[in-house]
Amino acid sequence: MSSAVSRGATPATPDRQPRLTVLSGPSGVGKSTVVAHMRKVHPEVWLSVSATTRKPRPGERHGVQYFFVDDEEFDKLIANGELLEWAEFAGNRYGTPRQAVLDHLAAGEPVLLEIDLQGARLVRESMPEARLVFLAPPSWEELVRRLTGRGTESAEVIERRLAAARVELAAEKEFDETLVNTSVEDVSRELLALMLNNSGE
Ligand code: ADP
Ligand code: 5GP
Repeated sequence: MSSAVSRGATPATPDRQPRLTVLSGPSGVGKSTVVAHMRKVHPEVWLSVSATTRKPRPGERHGVQYFFVDDEEFDKLIANGELLEWAEFAGNRYGTPRQAVLDHLAAGEPVLLEIDLQGARLVRESMPEARLVFLAPPSWEELVRRLTGRGTESAEVIERRLAAARVELAAEKEFDETLVNTSVEDVSRELLALMLNNSGE
């Protein structure tokens, strides 16, 4: 028998079943850096691997950071209802494979999605119990520095992502929590603490 403490009769969500957590925030704020740190230091958190039509950056591997697919394959994922949500971002499409997320939640594992703002809104609609966490930069200047300093995008793509970032920063108030990414270690610790706290507040 489980040693879980029951606080009431047949709760809709058992106390020990973690909520889905969504990490979002402007491009360049450090989402994938935080997620990579979580993968290394907190393997108990299950990280959803998205499908994308974007080309891999140096060091990115199929099935680890993303499932890299072409447009035709992405169309099929949509048509077959295999995506929990998907969005177009800066000229590429990104989507969350549905079944893996549901399976890991059902198994009682804390599940983390790192997705863009449009995706976060779609998850909120389809899974209102999900916890939305906004990763904020310490300042706008620091965000520009990070996005430019990453050196993986052309000037045109950086411009497009900065334009999106301006809109995304304004959406912070729609989120349940904000974490400021000054230190990757601190943010990862705070994120884990949020994820392991099932009370929801
Ligand atoms: P995102 O996934 O949100 O687009 P990245 O994780 O690719 O952002 O980070 C963008 C850049 O900022 C990278 O060069 C990364 O090394 C750097 N970075 C991320 N977090 C921090 C931090 N806390 N302090 C300084 N630089 C950071
Ligand atoms: P990048 O190209 O920098 O890896 O990601 C670009 C944006 O796409 C980021 O804001 C990232 O959070 C978002 N993203 C990654 N995977 C998904 C996904 O499955 N769905 C949605 N909606 N956005 C995603």
